[in-house]
Amino acid sequence: MDATDVNPVEGMKYVVVSGGVLSGLGKGVTASSIGVLLKSAGLQVTSIKIDPYLNSDAGTMSPFEHGEVFVLDDGGEVDLDLGNYERFLDINLQSENNLTTGKIYSKVIEAERRGDYLGKTVQVIPHITDAVQDWIEDVSKKTDGDKPPDACVIELGGTVGDIESAPFIEALRQFQFRVGRENICFVHVSLVPVMGPVGEQKTKPTQHSVKELRSLGIIPDVLVCRSETPLSLDTREKIAQFCHVSTQAVLSAHDVSNIYRVPLLLEKQGMCSLLGINCEGSEFLNQWESMAQQVDDCHETVTIAMVGKYTGLSDSYLSVIKGLQHAAHAENRQLVIEWIEASNLEDSTHDSWQALKCSDGILVPGGFGDRGIEGKLLAAKYARENKVPYLGICLGLQVATIEFCRNVLGFEGANSTEFDEKTPHPVVIFMPEISKTHLGGTMRLGSRVTNFLVNDSNIRNLYGGVDQVYERHRHRYEVNPDYIERIENHGMKFVGKDESGQRCEILELENHPYFVAVQFHPEFKSRPNRPSPPFLGLIKSSIL
Ligand code: GLN
Repeated sequence: MDATDVNPVEGMKYVVVSGGVLSGLGKGVTASSIGVLLKSAGLQVTSIKIDPYLNSDAGTMSPFEHGEVFVLDDGGEVDLDLGNYERFLDINLQSENNLTTGKIYSKVIEAERRGDYLGKTVQVIPHITDAVQDWIEDVSKKTDGDKPPDACVIELGGTVGDIESAPFIEALRQFQFRVGRENICFVHVSLVPVMGPVGEQKTKPTQHSVKELRSLGIIPDVLVCRSETPLSLDTREKIAQFCHVSTQAVLSAHDVSNIYRVPLLLEKQGMCSLLGINCEGSEFLNQWESMAQQVDDCHETVTIAMVGKYTGLSDSYLSVIKGLQHAAHAENRQLVIEWIEASNLEDSTHDSWQALKCSDGILVPGGFGDRGIEGKLLAAKYARENKVPYLGICLGLQVATIEFCRNVLGFEGANSTEFDEKTPHPVVIFMPEISKTHLGGTMRLGSRVTNFLVNDSNIRNLYGGVDQVYERHRHRYEVNPDYIERIENHGMKFVGKDESGQRCEILELENHPYFVAVQFHPEFKSRPNRPSPPFLGLIKSSIL
């Protein structure tokens, strides 16, 4: 098989990526990197993330639980790993690409209520495990491209041995017989800790997690071992000996200078031949090589203050960080983030003010609830008055509007009804969307259009001068249409609105180097080689 073949695989190929020892090993990045190699071999690739929790989707989870809630075009609120796949593979996924225990059980219970099981006892095996396999088979055939996928990467969330992932492991064990053993490759990601004064690489945790996986009936074909340092030959041989794989199939996923190096690292160690593909001469992989090199060659920095309320866990803002990185790298800069807990700014003597003032630009990301709101307002005020580049995302647009109304228009107590129902100036209000496709839902979710209303707009130029853009949304509140004229008369222009002309999508402040805020979340569509325009604008003006 070589990179020039159009459709070299007969039938679908599946790569299942499981994880052992502990969470947070970079299983998602490994799985996405495998996707990059499959794509480099000329295959159309899709992916499925399995999350064994009982929630139907990630929508109701706090960002402190599993990190950010990633939003798809179709409005799916999903695990952040789907963001990795979209960014690495440059594809658009759908909610069903994220499979959860909640979704599977709901489906099976619904079928049971309909009487589909004809009086049988409904059980985990075979009913849940069959439903999982059917789901994987169906979804893996769907594509957003012009041809159906040839390969599907399935990432199993959690750690092997967890009670809640057991039905999924069992389903995947059975799945190898459904699709044929030659069409499925099991990759297990594990940890090799480095201990002691001489930095000994310890193999026991990997041995145990592979033993656990094999006891469940899955024999891994490839082991990807996370480690601080490259795995020595001795270590690889020892793992091979105890884990029933060949030494060539034990790959080292040691720390590298940047994330784009991961697919290249796996490729160099023979991952392609282990998968039975050939990436030689691949244009796509060459692009990754130059991207990785370009990032390594960025020596100057740009510092952005991120004024949020979930700053204790950077995964809470993963896509925002990626959006900033894509833009910074496009401008040959390394990104430095100053994490600022918004509520700290409410104390004018707090050190956070120093951090804010030393930054080149300010970003106020999305959020829910009133904690830290006054601090975010102060950050927006500081950016506006001192002509510091500012990007507001979703809540960041709402606070910029509230701040402007309070301090420029003099509307004392102006607020969003989300934070103060009795405000004398409800400049941001609850505007649920009455949509044919989202009946009953109050959250405006997924891809929606923004029409540009003016020609000479900085942000429109950044978007390439187009008439309209589609970006992803996740919010309930909007700028109150009754206040728009008064706000615009004072120089804050709503340059982009939805198709009804009622909802403000983009604001831009006059006489300021870059003060832009968007009601949507541009971070979800940013790509390594195609930074999102609002982020690019922030970085460009922050390095001037
Ligand atoms: N809480 C605000 C709303 O619901 C902002 C949401 C967000 O930032 N994603 O409109």
